[in-house]
Amino acid sequence: MTTTGPRLRAVLDDIPAYVPGRAPAAREGVRAYKLASNENPYPPLPSVLGVIEQAAQQINRYPDMFATGVAEAIAAKLGVPVEHVATGTGSVGVCQQIVQATAGEGDEVIYAWRSFEAYPIIVQIAGAASVRVPLRDETHDLEAMADAVTDRTRLIFVCNPNNPTGTVVRRAELERFLDRVPADVLVVLDEAYREFVRDPEVPDGLDLYRDRPNVCVLRTFSKAYGLAGLRVGYAVAHEPVAVALRKTAVPFGVNAVAQAAAVASLDAEDELLERVEALVKERERVRGALLEQGWPVPPTEANFVWLRLGEDTAAFARACEEAGVTVRPFAGEGARVTVGEPEANDVFLRVAAEFRPRG
Ligand SMILES: *Cc1c(COP(=O)(O)O)cnc(C)c1O
Repeated sequence: MTTTGPRLRAVLDDIPAYVPGRAPAAREGVRAYKLASNENPYPPLPSVLGVIEQAAQQINRYPDMFATGVAEAIAAKLGVPVEHVATGTGSVGVCQQIVQATAGEGDEVIYAWRSFEAYPIIVQIAGAASVRVPLRDETHDLEAMADAVTDRTRLIFVCNPNNPTGTVVRRAELERFLDRVPADVLVVLDEAYREFVRDPEVPDGLDLYRDRPNVCVLRTFSKAYGLAGLRVGYAVAHEPVAVALRKTAVPFGVNAVAQAAAVASLDAEDELLERVEALVKERERVRGALLEQGWPVPPTEANFVWLRLGEDTAAFARACEEAGVTVRPFAGEGARVTVGEPEANDVFLRVAAEFRPRG
């Protein structure tokens, strides 16, 4: 008798693994910093921590399944109907809800490449096919993406600013693109880094979703609000889509501590956005220094910079790690480096100044 294990879905066989940013190894005499995961370097606000402690007293109870308090606070803050807000376990969780609500076997999902590495994983788990449209000049090629739409297209991700390049698409080109996409194809504007955007020509997705029922805006508490460890994200979409996202959500996925912290963070938004402003200033300092060093760094509107190092990527990541900072290498392509605390950025800039490509 041959023994066989449980039958698993074939789509899992060649699924790309999500590579989390590495924490630096502790080393004697070297202060270590993680610039690998686009996290907020600031510790949680005392007011938010207080609310978390309070909420922890109740963890014997299930959370509010629909995170009503969070949804109401978001709706009030953004000026959208509460019915248009759907939450999830980070915006990665919401991405998964979106794919499950729109695409399965035989369907196509379009996104730029390289872009957020969760997209291919989630699409493949759903059994749908990824259609990757190469970046042009490190930026979404929206015309090529619109050209890639077929009868099978169900969903398109536009990551703005794009992870890992930090580049943006602007209002006119995005509106032109949206006008070309069929009304029965959902377009997700993934705005995980929205709060870091300073270019006035980058549209707020909320202005674009209002009169377009096939546009959905994705935001998160993980980056600007510093709650990456608690996992809360949300979509803003018209009711049929928002209802579908509530159906595909993991029941009770957003836990009560996370819900309380998200509401408290919206209450403390002014304080949190000051920190974002400081990070934006650091971003400009870091990019300016890199340009002076002669690196061709694309303009970035996010909390990271992109160095297209090609074959030198792994060597550069090693050099950074030896100096005490971890970055996020994409083998053979480049390294994404998060803007962190000034001391960490200085370490990275020192490595960048001394690094010599193999040529
Ligand atoms: C970080 C990130 C997210 C979301 O992260 P969550 O922690 O799951 O909210 C979503 N999209 C992009 C492009 C990101 O970089």
